[in-house]
Amino acid sequence: MLPIQFSRPIRRTNIEVKSRYSLYKVELRVDFLSKCGYCDTLDYYSGGTRGFHIDHFAPKSKFSSLVNDYSNLVYCCPICNIGKSDDWPGTSAAISFIDEKGYIDPCHTDYHNHLARNLDGSIIPLTPLGKYIHKKLKLNLRRRQICWLLERMEQQLTQLAQIVKDSDEKNNETKALCDLTLKYFEYVGMLKSE
Ligand SMILES: [Zn+2]
Repeated sequence: MLPIQFSRPIRRTNIEVKSRYSLYKVELRVDFLSKCGYCDTLDYYSGGTRGFHIDHFAPKSKFSSLVNDYSNLVYCCPICNIGKSDDWPGTSAAISFIDEKGYIDPCHTDYHNHLARNLDGSIIPLTPLGKYIHKKLKLNLRRRQICWLLERMEQQLTQLAQIVKDSDEKNNETKALCDLTLKYFEYVGMLKSE
């Protein structure tokens, strides 16, 4: 079993205060390593920064004072954001779960205690609360697993193509395949930076 997140996102605490939460997207993307805080899917697979959402961990519809509070924001994919919506277990922003219902801030170390990843990339709940989050955020969707697998395959393909390209023993077809593969991922890299 693997952690659900490859690296735990960490929100900076010295971010300059801004007038609208949407203006924090650049900083959030850096802090969340270009990935959804909840499912760890790269934003590239949802149309890059423009396709990604900003979730209010404690919903803005219930806690308006936190609407521009950076510590309450999560960079996330549309599926997780829409799944979570304004669901919240109680009336206090400070209490994110009651018994088996609610959420764990994905920047918190405790997040890993409730959700994990199988070796095949699928996401699994570890606790009843993890099960609640898993269901609400639709973490069972196949695309969570496929995106995770693709990310790893891309890294392996790029490395392999570079190794073959640098070796002397290759025919024209192999050389063409390597060049095409490296070019392909050069373009993918351009999309990933957006
Ligand atoms: Zn997500």
